[in-house]
Amino acid sequence: MKKRNKKKRKKGGLLLLLAIGLISYFYLSTSPSIKQEAKPITQEEKQEEVFSPLVLVNEEFALPDNFNAKIVEYQTVYLSNVLVEELEEMQKKARQEGIELTINNAYRSREQQESILENKIQEYTKKGLTFEEAYEKATEIVQLPGHSEHETGLAIDFSEYGNYAQNKKIWNWLKDNAHHYGFILRYPKDKEEITKIHYEAWHYRYVGKEAAQIIYQENLCLEEYLQQYSF
Ligand SMILES: [Zn+2]
Repeated sequence: MKKRNKKKRKKGGLLLLLAIGLISYFYLSTSPSIKQEAKPITQEEKQEEVFSPLVLVNEEFALPDNFNAKIVEYQTVYLSNVLVEELEEMQKKARQEGIELTINNAYRSREQQESILENKIQEYTKKGLTFEEAYEKATEIVQLPGHSEHETGLAIDFSEYGNYAQNKKIWNWLKDNAHHYGFILRYPKDKEEITKIHYEAWHYRYVGKEAAQIIYQENLCLEEYLQQYSF
């Protein structure tokens, strides 16, 4: 009795599979767009994904489309998994010294960057500027989509808002200690001409401990480091 039931189930399962197969075949062969979407990623395409904590993203260089930062959730934000351990250590050490490293911004998708730029442009056009004027002004402070370091998942804004005096203490701590954990002050005051970005005391970038030590000790910015040390 049991055996027969099993056989029946097996037969039913086979029929169901056949039906699904026929339906999908019919559906895929008559619908080119779905056929394209359903195409599996080949091994070759997977291998094309790139990642480096030293990726250069600035006005000149956009983040490659195949960059895969492996984004994870961390506290209230999302960021690359490569820096989590060192970030945790850094926050712990800071806390022991009475400094709370609050994260305001980290990973942003390209779409989020687009909408930030759009909102900024809108803000200016509402104030009476033409679209061209508004665009020009907005792109002075907001990076073009693809050109923001936040899209790498490797950039963090610490304590950007709130009490200035309090934040200054936090930024000073970071300036002296972040390199021990693989982070650099990405837009220093004396490198504005190279980075093309105004000094941002709150914006830190993960590059790994080795590069961070050299960048800190030799007072370089990432552009200079990559030029001098790229092999
Ligand atoms: Zn930032």
